[in-house]
Amino acid sequence: MKCAPDHSRATSPAFAVKPRLIRQLFLPPLILLLTVSLGYAGYRASLYSGIRALSESGERQLELNGRAVESEINKFTFLPSLLELEGSVSTLLADPDAEGHRQAVNDYLEGLNRRSHSSAIYVLDTTGRVQASSNWRDANSYLGEDLSFRAYFQDAVRGQDGRFYGIGTTTGEPGYYLAHGLEEHGKIVGVAVVKVRMESLEERWQKARLEAFVSDENGIIILSSDPARRLKSVRPLTPEIKERLARSLQYYWFSLTELQPLERETLADGVERLSFPAAGSQREVSYLAQTRELKDTPWHFTLLTPLQDLRREAVIQGVLVAVAFGLVAFFLIAWNERRKVIATRLAAREALEEANSLLERRIAERTENLRASNDRLKSQIRERRQAEETLRRAQDELVQAGKLAAIGQMSTSIAHELNQPLAALRTLSGNTVRFLERGALDIASTNLVTMNQLIDRMGRITASLRSFARRGEDRGRASLAQAVDATLQVLAARIEGLGVQVHREYSDVQLPIGQTRLEQILGNLVGNALDAMADSPQPTLWLQGDRLDDGRYRLRVRDNGHGIDAQARAQLFEPFFTTKPGEQGLGLGLTLSASLAAAAGGSLGAEHPDEGGTAFVLTLPPLNPLPPTSPVEPS
Ligand code: ADP
Repeated sequence: MKCAPDHSRATSPAFAVKPRLIRQLFLPPLILLLTVSLGYAGYRASLYSGIRALSESGERQLELNGRAVESEINKFTFLPSLLELEGSVSTLLADPDAEGHRQAVNDYLEGLNRRSHSSAIYVLDTTGRVQASSNWRDANSYLGEDLSFRAYFQDAVRGQDGRFYGIGTTTGEPGYYLAHGLEEHGKIVGVAVVKVRMESLEERWQKARLEAFVSDENGIIILSSDPARRLKSVRPLTPEIKERLARSLQYYWFSLTELQPLERETLADGVERLSFPAAGSQREVSYLAQTRELKDTPWHFTLLTPLQDLRREAVIQGVLVAVAFGLVAFFLIAWNERRKVIATRLAAREALEEANSLLERRIAERTENLRASNDRLKSQIRERRQAEETLRRAQDELVQAGKLAAIGQMSTSIAHELNQPLAALRTLSGNTVRFLERGALDIASTNLVTMNQLIDRMGRITASLRSFARRGEDRGRASLAQAVDATLQVLAARIEGLGVQVHREYSDVQLPIGQTRLEQILGNLVGNALDAMADSPQPTLWLQGDRLDDGRYRLRVRDNGHGIDAQARAQLFEPFFTTKPGEQGLGLGLTLSASLAAAAGGSLGAEHPDEGGTAFVLTLPPLNPLPPTSPVEPS
């Protein structure tokens, strides 16, 4: 079965394998890479959309908490200016050395401080020395201290509002200092300062689990929900800045360091992503840091929103995206493989159908050829049969012609054989007439008997010749066994009379001669043998058949009779040769038998065994195979 050529396979095998190999080699890493990339992209997208959502909600939180911080700060703004209204303060500042005034101011400030929940309230003269203070009772009271180096004093004494966050040099406590220049008749006579502790804000943030810090104008974190971040700088500190701040003692002697996040990413104006090491662990904590300015101060409020949950969610989203892509890729590959399998099956089916139709076409062609050759064969068979028929007829004609020729050859002998009795008959009949006229009836009767015998002999001669010359039966199909049986049956009386022992050693073969012809030959041969054994003490007849190498069948008819002398052997097959006395032999048996055998394509010969007797050998050709009865049918 031949399939249609597949052009896709026309290239060399190495090239045919290559794309598949490339697919198998590069597809899995590519899919893996895409899965990881998409997963990462999903993670990033989820993280950023989460951050955006978070920053929107954080914006509101920032505003809310920023305002809370502002209100906390601003609620003390008016307090220092209140002291301007207090007469005792003016009196004290006008005459700091006068006794009694200071104590009155101290008491006033103490009471005011208690009521306003501030940390301390004190009054400085224009030189920066503390003239009165709410904490006059404390051991570390500010009274008498020179705070002229403080920036808030310097601002306030110049008529500006002094806002300052710092650590008290006396108490070491941090606080928000609000200073106001106290004016009298348009002239600054002193400075009122309120120190506010803002830890309550930090406590509030901690309670609300809010992560936030406030950084001052120097970028130093002054308030923080996480104490660890306090007094850290949110901006890089140059050595000059550090020195300036140290000199101002704003942060007392605390060493100022930078708040150094592990990672810092600016997302928008005032929005950053910061990562800090988590307390007590190696892990880092990421925050969304949103910063806004605090009104009326140079400070900034920063709200930190943890991104941990967001990150976890983003990781889950990324994993989901990766898994979804992996599944899609898997289904696509599976679908593609299935499509290929179906395509291959379809191609195979088409190839099969193509091959089937080709096969059918070929079968039809072959059948047509077979039919044609069958027809040719039939006509050849017909021709052969006709030729055989013609041949057979020609052979019959030939045989007939041969027989007639044989009779022609014998004609002299026949004429001689017939003339003799005819002459004898003429003489005898003439004599008989004369004897009858004389009345010699006995002699006439004897002559008539002799004449009768002569006529019989002539009748037998013509009968033999007529039988020989008759058409047909020269060829045909004879059963040897049947012919022998028939012959022995005809001669049974003589066989029994002589007490002949018959040995039959032949097979029942079919021979190419007419049945009657074969029986005629056998009758002659067996009859002669019986004649020859008439005086034998133990007459025995052998009928022995065998097949020769060339396929011919040979039948030997042997007897243990008197045999044939040398002289007679040469004449055996001559017509009318006989050694039999009187009317017993015609001398035609062997001649005619040999002619019949020759007509059937065989031969008849004589052998003279050493042990005595005679053997006549009849050899006939193998029977022609029958022509086929039916023509070959196309398969
Ligand atoms: P006929 O039998 O009429 O004599 P045949 O042609 O049959 O004529 O035989 C010719 C002669 O051959 C016989 O006369 C006989 O002498 C001799 N002959 C034939 N057969 C045998 C035989 N079996 N044994 C001895 N002689 C035979």
